[in-house]
Amino acid sequence: MSERVAVYPGSFDPVTFGHLDIIKRGLTVFDKIIVAVLNNARKDPLFTVEERVALLKETTKELNHVEVDCFDGLLMDYVEEKNVHVVLRGLRAISDFEYELQIASINKNLNPKVETFFMISNNHFSFLSSSMVKEVSRYQGNVSDLVPEAVEEALNKKYGRQ
Ligand code: ADP
Repeated sequence: MSERVAVYPGSFDPVTFGHLDIIKRGLTVFDKIIVAVLNNARKDPLFTVEERVALLKETTKELNHVEVDCFDGLLMDYVEEKNVHVVLRGLRAISDFEYELQIASINKNLNPKVETFFMISNNHFSFLSSSMVKEVSRYQGNVSDLVPEAVEEALNKKYGRQ
């Protein structure tokens, strides 16, 4: 049987325990996960793509069968290039649902061979988002329950505290 590979795309600005939970649980379903950082010109990220990739590499280094990459443009062009047929996404609250439904439908139109696979967020992380983490960290709140240490340090540096 051929290897089951999924692409897990997102901004990862920065990676949180919620993302890592999806990656770990995804590895129980897929043989390999390619975590793909989107270089999205529309968003105004805190971390550069290179920094986000580096943090993902650092925080997944103990996991086998995880590759970290980045891409520009359409996700469907990227998966085609990688010859992958599954997109992995995490679903937190109902609020994620409508947005995810739109993207999954558009992607299905662009490439009917590609399936989007959703994993429900772990209860502990269902209200955790990168933007929440940035907001808390910016005002010096404690984010150690929300992100790995390397990310906490990177946030402290960004906000000029180290
Ligand atoms: P995007 O900018 O594409 O929404 P994110 O980096 O915010 O990307 O998230 C990437 C993926 O991870 C999305 O599918 C998102 O729903 C999922 N995700 C984000 N935070 C969590 C979490 N706390 N638990 C589960 N899934 C999450």
